[in-house]
Amino acid sequence: MPDIKVAKHAGFCFGVKKAIEVAEEVAGKNSGQPTYVLGQLVHNERVIKNLEDKGIIFVDNASEIPQNAITVLRAHGEPCTTYQVLEQKSITQGNNLNDATCPLVTLVHNVAIKLKQNGYEVMIFGKHDHPESIGTSYHLKGKDTFIVEHAEDSDLVLDYINKTNYEKYALISQTTMSVLGYKKLIEDINSKLMNGKFEEIALNLRDLTKKFGYVDTICNPTKQRQSDIDELAQDRDIIIVIGGLNSSNSKELYAKAREYGVESYFIQSAEQLQKRWFIGKEKIGITAGASTPDYLIDEVADKISGIIDDKGQVINLKN
Ligand code: SF4
Repeated sequence: MPDIKVAKHAGFCFGVKKAIEVAEEVAGKNSGQPTYVLGQLVHNERVIKNLEDKGIIFVDNASEIPQNAITVLRAHGEPCTTYQVLEQKSITQGNNLNDATCPLVTLVHNVAIKLKQNGYEVMIFGKHDHPESIGTSYHLKGKDTFIVEHAEDSDLVLDYINKTNYEKYALISQTTMSVLGYKKLIEDINSKLMNGKFEEIALNLRDLTKKFGYVDTICNPTKQRQSDIDELAQDRDIIIVIGGLNSSNSKELYAKAREYGVESYFIQSAEQLQKRWFIGKEKIGITAGASTPDYLIDEVADKISGIIDDKGQVINLKN
């Protein structure tokens, strides 16, 4: 058998798993009428197609959901404006609204709200167009919330601080960002900040006296998936990362594997595997983002097993 190691925490995180279960359960209970899900529940086309086959309708905007419709909100968290739009359509919690927001995203919202209430100008390390950052920003200053996307952009943060002059500043992170990236961003800011340093504020937010603070809001499932890459990079000749093209956490895994200098590929399905990648490779590593189902990981592992023998020889390069 070829030496294939699948990362310990590859695939669905508990938040995504729970959201899928909620959607399936709600659709099952109400099979005579459609169940609406706002946004992509999971960044995987096959999973979405399976759910559509069960009577679930996906829409990108709350305005597309009909009055009084059975509705599920995904794990990523929604801005308060979404709840307002739904309420106007008589879609409410405890009635026809099923909110599958991940508790770890709700935690970030609560952290943002409490920091703001305690006089902090809250900035987000996250992706401008990611639903989670958009949702969190609506608890702050909406579209005017300062979001920094890249670990290399410490100068943008410093410019913002210099231009604004608030009493206190805090940084929080989207749950799926790079742990090392967040650390680098804070270190770079601190190396250039003239009038203080960003210090960690514990997640319980007991001490809110620091002038500059950051809270570690990257979720544990994201951290586990990222540290699995550290392990795979130790002895694997090649790492295959499976994940949706829109999946922030999957892209972070791929970037991290590449940073280690291990030959790595980012794929969405087993069909994309190419035999030539495996020539001379004896030890194969596989990992997958939080929106990748187990069956997809198994399919990739099975296909690789059929491509190489136990000496790392590609069995038939022509097929
Ligand atoms: S990635 Fe983290 S925060 Fe997002 S749904 Fe999964 S567990 Fe929740």
